[in-house]
Amino acid sequence: MNKNNRTENLNKEIGSCAKCRLSKTRIKTVPGEGPLDAEYFIVGQGPGANEDQLGRPFIGRAGKLLTELLALAGIDRSKETFITSIVKCLPTPPVNRKPKSDEIDACHDYLARQIEIVGAKKIILLGDMAFKEFFPKEKFSEWRGQWREKEGRKYFISYHPAAGIRFQKFKKILERDFKTSVLAEKIDSRSIL
Ligand code: SF4
Repeated sequence: MNKNNRTENLNKEIGSCAKCRLSKTRIKTVPGEGPLDAEYFIVGQGPGANEDQLGRPFIGRAGKLLTELLALAGIDRSKETFITSIVKCLPTPPVNRKPKSDEIDACHDYLARQIEIVGAKKIILLGDMAFKEFFPKEKFSEWRGQWREKEGRKYFISYHPAAGIRFQKFKKILERDFKTSVLAEKIDSRSIL
């Protein structure tokens, strides 16, 4: 089965998923989107209210900031990234709360299968919760702003863009992270080719 068929089947499965309580309150599932050969696989915390309405990831203000941050690193969001979250349904109530550990665990298999299908070697983790999904024993504050390697993949760790929307301080740090570390890695990887 090719990547398109596998993704179609997976999205259907997610669309009818009732493995956790979020299935009862969601409007639409938000499986993620992007080219299936994307160089960068981006993982956020979970859909917000806008995403829940439309079934697409990162389409609100945080999504606009993410697109700008990627551009600072020379990355074209629509051509070079596959974007998803650790849970595929809006965490609520209250709206936009953090996903609970049993919800994250229930959804984990979908994320693992997406990574496998896309085959991305570079994964960008947005926020502490996405970081903990991949590095449960590590401290976010020690790795933010850096790339690190694990099991043949590179991971970049930074804040969630929603933090940048709320606080100017975090927006500046996000901009610096993408304009320096992410861009530098991209230039390095191009020079090796
Ligand atoms: Fe299923 Fe994940 Fe949605 Fe829970 S969050 S219902 S596990 S798709």
